[in-house]
Amino acid sequence: MKINKHTILTAGILGGLVVGVVVGEGLYRAYQGDVPLAALEGLSFVGNTFFIGLLKMVLVPLVASSVIIGVSSIGDPSQLGRIGGYTVLYYFATMAIAVVLGVVIVVSVHPGRGFDEGFRNQQAQAFEQGDSVEQQRSQEAQATGLWGAFKNIATQLIPSNPIGAAANGQLLPVISFSLIMGIVLTVIGPRGRPVLDFFDSLYAAVMKLVDWVLWLAPVGVLCLVAWTVARIGTASLIGPLAKFIVTVLLALSIHGLIVLPLVLWVFGRTNPFRYMHQMRQALLTAFGTDSSSATLPVTIECAEKMGGVSKRAAGFVLPLGATVNMDGTALYEAVAVVFLFQCYGIALGPTQLGIIVVTATLAAVGAAGIPSAGLVTMVIVVQAVNNSLGLPQDQQLPLASVGVILGVDRVLDMCRTTVNVWGDSVGAKIITRIAPDPA
Ligand code: ASP
Repeated sequence: MKINKHTILTAGILGGLVVGVVVGEGLYRAYQGDVPLAALEGLSFVGNTFFIGLLKMVLVPLVASSVIIGVSSIGDPSQLGRIGGYTVLYYFATMAIAVVLGVVIVVSVHPGRGFDEGFRNQQAQAFEQGDSVEQQRSQEAQATGLWGAFKNIATQLIPSNPIGAAANGQLLPVISFSLIMGIVLTVIGPRGRPVLDFFDSLYAAVMKLVDWVLWLAPVGVLCLVAWTVARIGTASLIGPLAKFIVTVLLALSIHGLIVLPLVLWVFGRTNPFRYMHQMRQALLTAFGTDSSSATLPVTIECAEKMGGVSKRAAGFVLPLGATVNMDGTALYEAVAVVFLFQCYGIALGPTQLGIIVVTATLAAVGAAGIPSAGLVTMVIVVQAVNNSLGLPQDQQLPLASVGVILGVDRVLDMCRTTVNVWGDSVGAKIITRIAPDPA
Protein backbone atom coordinates (compact mmCIF):
# COMPACT_ATOMS: atom_id res chain seq x y z
CA MET A 1 0.00 0.00 0.00
CA LYS A 2 1.26 3.43 -0.88
CA ILE A 3 1.48 5.59 2.22
CA ASN A 4 1.05 9.22 1.27
CA LYS A 5 1.22 12.32 3.43
CA HIS A 6 -2.55 12.42 3.86
CA THR A 7 -2.60 8.93 5.33
CA ILE A 8 0.16 9.84 7.77
CA LEU A 9 -1.57 13.07 8.76
CA THR A 10 -4.96 11.43 9.22
CA ALA A 11 -3.40 8.69 11.34
CA GLY A 12 -1.61 11.39 13.33
CA ILE A 13 -4.79 13.33 14.04
CA LEU A 14 -6.68 10.16 14.96
CA GLY A 15 -3.79 9.13 17.20
CA GLY A 16 -3.87 12.61 18.78
CA LEU A 17 -7.56 12.20 19.55
CA VAL A 18 -7.08 8.81 21.18
CA VAL A 19 -3.98 9.78 23.15
CA GLY A 20 -5.76 13.00 24.18
CA VAL A 21 -8.61 11.00 25.71
CA VAL A 22 -6.16 8.69 27.47
CA VAL A 23 -4.04 11.54 28.84
CA GLY A 24 -7.11 13.52 29.93
CA GLU A 25 -8.69 10.54 31.64
CA GLY A 26 -5.34 9.61 33.24
CA LEU A 27 -5.02 13.10 34.70
CA TYR A 28 -8.64 13.13 35.83
CA ARG A 29 -8.20 9.85 37.69
CA ALA A 30 -4.75 10.63 39.07
CA TYR A 31 -6.08 13.80 40.68
CA GLN A 32 -9.53 12.40 41.45
CA GLY A 33 -11.26 14.97 39.31
CA ASP A 34 -9.33 17.92 40.69
CA VAL A 35 -6.63 18.34 38.06
CA PRO A 36 -4.26 21.22 38.97
CA LEU A 37 -4.98 24.40 37.10
CA ALA A 38 -1.40 24.58 35.86
CA ALA A 39 -1.75 21.26 34.01
CA LEU A 40 -5.05 22.33 32.45
CA GLU A 41 -3.65 25.69 31.47
CA GLY A 42 -0.58 24.04 30.01
CA LEU A 43 -2.68 21.81 27.74
CA SER A 44 -4.96 24.64 26.70
CA PHE A 45 -1.97 26.93 26.08
CA VAL A 46 -0.21 24.48 23.77
CA GLY A 47 -3.37 23.55 21.86
CA ASN A 48 -4.67 27.06 21.51
CA THR A 49 -1.41 28.82 20.77
CA PHE A 50 0.42 26.42 18.51
CA PHE A 51 -2.51 25.01 16.60
CA ILE A 52 -5.69 27.08 16.90
CA GLY A 53 -3.59 30.26 17.05
CA LEU A 54 -1.87 29.45 13.76
CA LEU A 55 -5.14 28.52 12.11
CA LYS A 56 -6.67 31.77 13.29
CA MET A 57 -3.62 33.64 12.06
CA VAL A 58 -4.35 32.63 8.47
CA LEU A 59 -8.11 32.99 8.76
CA VAL A 60 -8.65 36.61 7.74
CA PRO A 61 -6.27 36.64 4.74
CA LEU A 62 -7.62 33.25 3.70
CA VAL A 63 -11.26 34.27 3.89
CA ALA A 64 -10.65 37.60 2.14
CA SER A 65 -8.62 36.08 -0.68
CA SER A 66 -10.77 32.98 -1.18
CA VAL A 67 -14.01 34.97 -1.31
CA ILE A 68 -12.55 37.59 -3.67
CA ILE A 69 -11.07 34.96 -5.98
CA GLY A 70 -14.17 32.76 -5.84
CA VAL A 71 -16.59 35.60 -6.55
CA SER A 72 -14.50 37.23 -9.27
CA SER A 73 -14.07 33.92 -11.07
CA ILE A 74 -17.85 33.58 -11.22
CA GLY A 75 -17.81 36.97 -12.91
CA ASP A 76 -21.37 37.52 -14.08
CA PRO A 77 -23.38 39.09 -11.18
CA SER A 78 -26.61 37.35 -12.24
CA GLN A 79 -24.86 33.98 -12.10
CA LEU A 80 -23.51 35.00 -8.70
CA GLY A 81 -27.04 35.81 -7.55
CA ARG A 82 -28.22 32.38 -8.65
CA ILE A 83 -25.40 30.61 -6.84
CA GLY A 84 -25.92 32.77 -3.76
CA GLY A 85 -29.64 31.98 -3.79
CA TYR A 86 -29.05 28.24 -3.98
CA THR A 87 -26.42 28.43 -1.27
CA VAL A 88 -28.70 30.25 1.18
CA LEU A 89 -31.55 27.89 0.30
CA TYR A 90 -29.29 24.93 1.03
CA TYR A 91 -28.19 26.40 4.38
CA PHE A 92 -31.70 27.05 5.63
CA ALA A 93 -33.27 23.88 4.25
CA THR A 94 -30.69 21.59 5.84
CA MET A 95 -30.73 23.49 9.14
CA ALA A 96 -34.53 23.28 9.24
CA ILE A 97 -34.41 19.54 8.54
CA ALA A 98 -31.82 19.15 11.32
CA VAL A 99 -33.97 21.01 13.85
CA VAL A 100 -37.16 19.13 12.97
CA LEU A 101 -35.25 15.87 13.24
CA GLY A 102 -33.88 16.92 16.64
CA VAL A 103 -37.34 17.85 17.92
CA VAL A 104 -38.91 14.59 16.71
CA ILE A 105 -36.19 12.52 18.35
CA VAL A 106 -36.09 14.34 21.67
CA VAL A 107 -39.88 14.26 21.95
CA SER A 108 -39.93 10.51 21.18
CA VAL A 109 -37.02 9.51 23.42
CA HIS A 110 -38.05 11.91 26.21
CA PRO A 111 -34.63 11.97 27.94
CA GLY A 112 -35.83 14.42 30.61
CA ARG A 113 -38.43 12.05 32.05
CA GLY A 114 -37.70 11.23 35.69
CA PHE A 115 -34.51 13.31 35.68
CA ASP A 116 -32.62 13.47 38.97
CA GLU A 117 -34.00 16.67 40.54
CA GLY A 118 -31.22 17.00 43.09
CA PHE A 119 -28.56 16.96 40.38
CA ARG A 120 -30.62 19.37 38.27
CA ASN A 121 -31.00 21.96 41.01
CA GLN A 122 -27.39 21.67 42.11
CA GLN A 123 -26.05 22.21 38.59
CA ALA A 124 -28.41 25.10 37.89
CA GLN A 125 -27.49 26.75 41.18
CA ALA A 126 -23.78 26.35 40.53
CA PHE A 127 -24.25 27.98 37.12
CA GLU A 128 -26.24 30.86 38.58
CA GLN A 129 -23.76 31.54 41.36
CA GLY A 130 -20.63 31.01 39.31
CA ASP A 131 -19.10 33.56 37.02
CA SER A 132 -18.20 31.39 34.07
CA VAL A 133 -17.72 32.93 30.64
CA GLU A 134 -20.75 30.97 29.48
CA GLN A 135 -22.88 32.49 32.20
CA GLN A 136 -21.85 36.03 31.32
CA ARG A 137 -22.36 35.44 27.62
CA SER A 138 -25.77 33.81 28.20
CA GLN A 139 -26.88 36.85 30.16
CA GLU A 140 -25.79 39.08 27.32
CA ALA A 141 -27.62 36.89 24.81
CA GLN A 142 -30.73 37.01 26.98
CA ALA A 143 -30.56 40.78 27.22
CA THR A 144 -30.30 41.26 23.45
CA GLY A 145 -32.84 38.55 22.50
CA LEU A 146 -33.77 37.50 18.97
CA TRP A 147 -34.03 41.04 17.62
CA GLY A 148 -30.62 41.85 19.05
CA ALA A 149 -29.15 38.78 17.37
CA PHE A 150 -30.70 39.82 14.05
CA LYS A 151 -29.36 43.39 14.38
CA ASN A 152 -25.95 42.00 15.18
CA ILE A 153 -25.90 39.94 11.97
CA ALA A 154 -27.19 42.86 9.89
CA THR A 155 -24.50 45.22 11.17
CA GLN A 156 -21.87 42.62 10.47
CA LEU A 157 -23.15 42.18 6.92
CA ILE A 158 -22.88 45.90 6.27
CA PRO A 159 -19.67 46.74 8.08
CA SER A 160 -18.85 50.41 8.48
CA ASN A 161 -15.26 49.51 9.22
CA PRO A 162 -14.22 46.29 7.46
CA ILE A 163 -10.58 46.70 8.36
CA GLY A 164 -11.46 47.15 12.02
CA ALA A 165 -13.65 44.04 11.86
CA ALA A 166 -10.84 42.11 10.22
CA ALA A 167 -8.45 43.29 12.91
CA ASN A 168 -10.87 41.88 15.49
CA GLY A 169 -11.04 38.58 13.66
CA GLN A 170 -14.76 38.96 12.80
CA LEU A 171 -15.44 36.85 9.76
CA LEU A 172 -18.88 37.91 8.55
CA PRO A 173 -17.88 41.54 7.82
CA VAL A 174 -14.76 40.31 6.02
CA ILE A 175 -16.87 37.95 3.91
CA SER A 176 -19.41 40.57 2.90
CA PHE A 177 -16.76 43.20 2.14
CA SER A 178 -14.75 40.70 0.09
CA LEU A 179 -17.87 39.65 -1.75
CA ILE A 180 -18.56 43.23 -2.79
CA MET A 181 -14.90 43.78 -3.71
CA GLY A 182 -14.89 40.58 -5.76
CA ILE A 183 -17.82 41.85 -7.82
CA VAL A 184 -16.44 45.37 -8.21
CA LEU A 185 -12.99 44.18 -9.22
CA THR A 186 -14.57 42.11 -11.98
CA VAL A 187 -16.86 44.93 -13.11
CA ILE A 188 -13.96 47.38 -13.61
CA GLY A 189 -12.29 44.91 -15.99
CA PRO A 190 -8.56 45.13 -16.73
CA ARG A 191 -7.99 47.75 -14.04
CA GLY A 192 -9.05 45.25 -11.42
CA ARG A 193 -6.60 42.63 -12.66
CA PRO A 194 -3.53 43.62 -10.57
CA VAL A 195 -5.53 43.50 -7.34
CA LEU A 196 -7.07 40.15 -8.30
CA ASP A 197 -3.62 38.82 -9.12
CA PHE A 198 -2.45 40.00 -5.73
CA PHE A 199 -5.25 38.12 -3.96
CA ASP A 200 -4.61 35.08 -6.12
CA SER A 201 -0.99 34.98 -4.92
CA LEU A 202 -2.05 35.68 -1.36
CA TYR A 203 -4.49 32.78 -1.54
CA ALA A 204 -1.83 30.40 -2.86
CA ALA A 205 0.59 31.48 -0.12
CA VAL A 206 -1.95 31.13 2.67
CA MET A 207 -2.98 27.68 1.45
CA LYS A 208 0.66 26.61 1.52
CA LEU A 209 0.88 27.84 5.08
CA VAL A 210 -2.22 25.83 5.98
CA ASP A 211 -0.51 22.80 4.53
CA TRP A 212 2.35 23.29 6.97
CA VAL A 213 0.18 24.18 9.97
CA LEU A 214 -1.76 20.97 9.47
CA TRP A 215 1.26 19.01 10.60
CA LEU A 216 0.69 20.46 14.06
CA ALA A 217 -2.85 19.10 14.13
CA PRO A 218 -1.99 15.84 15.91
CA VAL A 219 -0.37 17.65 18.85
CA GLY A 220 -2.98 20.41 18.86
CA VAL A 221 -5.86 17.97 18.88
CA LEU A 222 -4.17 15.85 21.55
CA CYS A 223 -3.82 18.81 23.93
CA LEU A 224 -7.31 20.18 23.32
CA VAL A 225 -9.01 16.83 23.79
CA ALA A 226 -6.91 16.04 26.86
CA TRP A 227 -7.92 19.42 28.31
CA THR A 228 -11.61 18.68 27.73
CA VAL A 229 -11.48 15.17 29.19
CA ALA A 230 -9.26 16.12 32.15
CA ARG A 231 -11.89 18.61 33.31
CA ILE A 232 -14.88 16.29 33.31
CA GLY A 233 -13.65 12.70 33.03
CA THR A 234 -15.24 10.14 30.75
CA ALA A 235 -17.46 8.87 33.58
CA SER A 236 -19.56 12.05 33.34
CA LEU A 237 -20.83 10.71 30.05
CA ILE A 238 -22.52 7.81 31.76
CA GLY A 239 -23.90 9.87 34.67
CA PRO A 240 -27.40 11.35 34.94
CA LEU A 241 -27.00 13.00 31.53
CA ALA A 242 -26.36 9.75 29.66
CA LYS A 243 -29.83 9.61 28.13
CA PHE A 244 -29.57 13.20 26.94
CA ILE A 245 -26.14 12.53 25.43
CA VAL A 246 -27.41 9.44 23.63
CA THR A 247 -30.36 11.43 22.26
CA VAL A 248 -28.08 14.15 20.91
CA LEU A 249 -25.66 11.65 19.40
CA LEU A 250 -28.49 9.66 17.83
CA ALA A 251 -29.99 12.75 16.20
CA LEU A 252 -26.58 14.03 15.04
CA SER A 253 -25.71 10.63 13.60
CA ILE A 254 -28.96 10.38 11.66
CA HIS A 255 -28.43 13.85 10.25
CA GLY A 256 -24.75 13.41 9.48
CA LEU A 257 -24.79 9.82 8.27
CA ILE A 258 -28.19 9.56 6.59
CA VAL A 259 -29.81 12.92 5.83
CA LEU A 260 -26.80 14.87 4.56
CA PRO A 261 -25.39 11.93 2.55
CA LEU A 262 -28.81 11.50 0.96
CA VAL A 263 -28.97 15.21 0.10
CA LEU A 264 -25.48 15.00 -1.40
CA TRP A 265 -26.30 11.90 -3.36
CA VAL A 266 -29.53 13.34 -4.77
CA PHE A 267 -28.43 16.93 -5.46
CA GLY A 268 -24.69 16.54 -5.84
CA ARG A 269 -24.67 13.19 -7.67
CA THR A 270 -21.71 12.22 -5.53
CA ASN A 271 -20.85 9.12 -3.55
CA PRO A 272 -21.32 10.66 -0.06
CA PHE A 273 -19.11 8.29 1.89
CA ARG A 274 -16.23 8.61 -0.49
CA TYR A 275 -16.52 12.37 -0.16
CA MET A 276 -16.71 12.04 3.63
CA HIS A 277 -13.47 10.09 3.48
CA GLN A 278 -11.88 12.81 1.35
CA MET A 279 -12.95 15.40 3.93
CA ARG A 280 -11.72 13.33 6.90
CA GLN A 281 -8.95 15.67 8.03
CA ALA A 282 -11.35 18.60 8.22
CA LEU A 283 -13.94 16.52 10.08
CA LEU A 284 -11.36 15.26 12.58
CA THR A 285 -10.01 18.77 13.08
CA ALA A 286 -13.54 20.03 13.71
CA PHE A 287 -14.00 17.27 16.27
CA GLY A 288 -10.73 18.10 17.99
CA THR A 289 -11.04 21.89 17.99
CA ASP A 290 -14.77 22.54 18.58
CA SER A 291 -14.59 25.40 16.13
CA SER A 292 -15.86 25.60 12.55
CA SER A 293 -14.03 28.89 12.06
CA ALA A 294 -10.66 27.56 13.18
CA THR A 295 -11.26 24.48 11.01
CA LEU A 296 -12.12 26.56 7.93
CA PRO A 297 -8.59 26.60 6.48
CA VAL A 298 -8.48 22.80 6.71
CA THR A 299 -11.99 22.50 5.25
CA ILE A 300 -11.02 24.58 2.23
CA GLU A 301 -7.78 22.67 1.80
CA CYS A 302 -9.50 19.24 1.87
CA ALA A 303 -12.47 20.33 -0.25
CA GLU A 304 -10.33 21.74 -3.03
CA LYS A 305 -7.40 19.38 -3.01
CA MET A 306 -9.13 16.08 -2.27
CA GLY A 307 -12.87 16.55 -2.53
CA GLY A 308 -12.96 17.97 -6.04
CA VAL A 309 -14.80 21.13 -4.95
CA SER A 310 -14.41 24.06 -7.35
CA LYS A 311 -12.56 27.19 -6.25
CA ARG A 312 -15.73 29.10 -6.95
CA ALA A 313 -17.83 27.01 -4.61
CA ALA A 314 -15.11 26.65 -1.97
CA GLY A 315 -14.45 30.37 -1.92
CA PHE A 316 -18.07 31.23 -1.47
CA VAL A 317 -19.91 28.41 0.29
CA LEU A 318 -17.31 27.36 2.87
CA PRO A 319 -16.38 30.68 4.51
CA LEU A 320 -20.01 31.79 4.68
CA GLY A 321 -21.05 28.33 5.85
CA ALA A 322 -18.50 28.31 8.67
CA THR A 323 -20.25 31.27 10.29
CA VAL A 324 -23.85 30.87 9.11
CA ASN A 325 -24.62 27.24 8.29
CA MET A 326 -24.69 25.13 11.45
CA ASP A 327 -26.82 22.03 11.17
CA GLY A 328 -25.31 20.38 14.22
CA THR A 329 -25.75 23.46 16.39
CA ALA A 330 -29.34 24.04 15.26
CA LEU A 331 -30.20 20.41 16.01
CA TYR A 332 -28.41 20.53 19.36
CA GLU A 333 -30.16 23.70 20.48
CA ALA A 334 -33.55 22.16 19.74
CA VAL A 335 -32.78 18.89 21.53
CA ALA A 336 -31.22 20.64 24.52
CA VAL A 337 -34.04 23.15 24.98
CA VAL A 338 -36.79 20.51 24.80
CA PHE A 339 -34.76 18.35 27.19
CA LEU A 340 -34.44 21.17 29.73
CA PHE A 341 -38.17 21.86 29.62
CA GLN A 342 -38.76 18.13 30.15
CA CYS A 343 -36.39 18.15 33.13
CA TYR A 344 -38.40 20.92 34.78
CA GLY A 345 -41.68 19.19 33.98
CA ILE A 346 -42.97 22.04 31.77
CA ALA A 347 -45.17 20.68 28.98
CA LEU A 348 -44.64 22.03 25.47
CA GLY A 349 -47.41 22.10 22.87
CA PRO A 350 -47.15 22.17 19.07
CA THR A 351 -46.91 25.99 19.11
CA GLN A 352 -43.87 25.90 21.37
CA LEU A 353 -42.25 23.18 19.29
CA GLY A 354 -42.87 25.32 16.20
CA ILE A 355 -41.24 28.29 17.95
CA ILE A 356 -38.27 26.09 18.80
CA VAL A 357 -37.87 25.06 15.16
CA VAL A 358 -37.76 28.68 13.98
CA THR A 359 -35.71 30.19 16.80
CA ALA A 360 -33.20 27.33 17.00
CA THR A 361 -32.46 27.79 13.30
CA LEU A 362 -32.00 31.53 13.73
CA ALA A 363 -29.98 31.11 16.93
CA ALA A 364 -27.65 28.71 15.11
CA VAL A 365 -27.19 31.25 12.31
CA GLY A 366 -26.31 33.83 14.97
CA ALA A 367 -23.85 31.50 16.72
CA ALA A 368 -20.22 32.13 15.89
CA GLY A 369 -18.05 29.22 14.78
CA ILE A 370 -16.29 29.03 18.14
CA PRO A 371 -16.49 26.61 21.09
CA SER A 372 -19.73 26.67 23.10
CA ALA A 373 -21.32 29.39 20.96
CA GLY A 374 -24.40 27.21 20.59
CA LEU A 375 -24.82 26.89 24.34
CA VAL A 376 -24.93 30.66 24.64
CA THR A 377 -27.37 31.44 21.82
CA MET A 378 -29.63 28.66 23.15
CA VAL A 379 -30.79 31.18 25.73
CA ILE A 380 -32.61 33.01 22.94
CA VAL A 381 -34.64 29.87 22.19
CA VAL A 382 -35.46 29.33 25.88
CA GLN A 383 -36.60 32.91 26.17
CA ALA A 384 -38.85 32.71 23.09
CA VAL A 385 -40.52 29.55 24.40
CA ASN A 386 -40.94 31.03 27.88
CA ASN A 387 -42.62 34.09 26.35
CA SER A 388 -45.01 32.00 24.31
CA LEU A 389 -46.03 29.93 27.32
CA GLY A 390 -47.03 33.07 29.20
CA LEU A 391 -46.35 31.46 32.58
CA PRO A 392 -45.59 33.55 35.68
CA GLN A 393 -41.88 34.20 36.11
CA ASP A 394 -41.38 31.61 38.85
CA GLN A 395 -42.86 28.81 36.73
CA GLN A 396 -40.79 29.53 33.64
CA LEU A 397 -37.67 27.63 32.67
CA PRO A 398 -34.86 29.46 34.50
CA LEU A 399 -31.93 30.72 32.46
CA ALA A 400 -29.65 28.91 34.89
CA SER A 401 -31.07 25.58 33.70
CA VAL A 402 -28.38 25.76 31.02
CA GLY A 403 -26.03 24.83 33.86
CA VAL A 404 -27.51 21.31 33.84
CA ILE A 405 -25.82 20.52 30.52
CA LEU A 406 -22.80 22.81 30.88
CA GLY A 407 -20.54 19.98 32.07
CA VAL A 408 -20.99 17.84 28.98
CA ASP A 409 -21.41 20.67 26.49
CA ARG A 410 -17.82 20.67 25.36
CA VAL A 411 -17.90 16.99 24.41
CA LEU A 412 -21.17 17.38 22.54
CA ASP A 413 -19.76 20.51 20.93
CA MET A 414 -17.06 18.34 19.36
CA CYS A 415 -19.75 16.23 17.73
CA ARG A 416 -22.01 19.06 16.59
CA THR A 417 -19.07 21.04 15.18
CA THR A 418 -18.15 17.98 13.09
CA VAL A 419 -21.69 17.92 11.70
CA ASN A 420 -21.52 21.70 11.08
CA VAL A 421 -18.37 21.31 9.00
CA TRP A 422 -19.79 18.27 7.21
CA GLY A 423 -22.89 20.31 6.32
CA ASP A 424 -20.72 23.07 4.83
CA SER A 425 -18.68 20.53 2.89
CA VAL A 426 -21.78 18.88 1.43
CA GLY A 427 -23.10 22.30 0.40
CA ALA A 428 -19.83 23.17 -1.34
CA LYS A 429 -19.88 19.91 -3.27
CA ILE A 430 -23.48 20.45 -4.39
CA ILE A 431 -22.82 24.03 -5.45
CA THR A 432 -19.76 22.80 -7.42
CA ARG A 433 -22.26 21.21 -9.75
CA ILE A 434 -23.75 24.57 -10.70
CA ALA A 435 -20.49 26.48 -10.36
CA PRO A 436 -17.66 24.32 -11.69
CA ASP A 437 -14.28 25.91 -12.32
CA PRO A 438 -13.61 26.79 -15.96
CA ALA A 439 -11.91 23.93 -17.77
N1 ASP B 1 -18.60 25.05 18.22
C1 ASP B 1 -19.58 25.17 17.17
C2 ASP B 1 -18.88 25.53 15.87
O1 ASP B 1 -17.85 26.12 15.88
C3 ASP B 1 -20.65 26.15 17.49
C4 ASP B 1 -21.46 25.64 18.66
O2 ASP B 1 -22.42 24.90 18.42
O3 ASP B 1 -21.15 25.93 19.78
O4 ASP B 1 -19.37 25.21 14.81
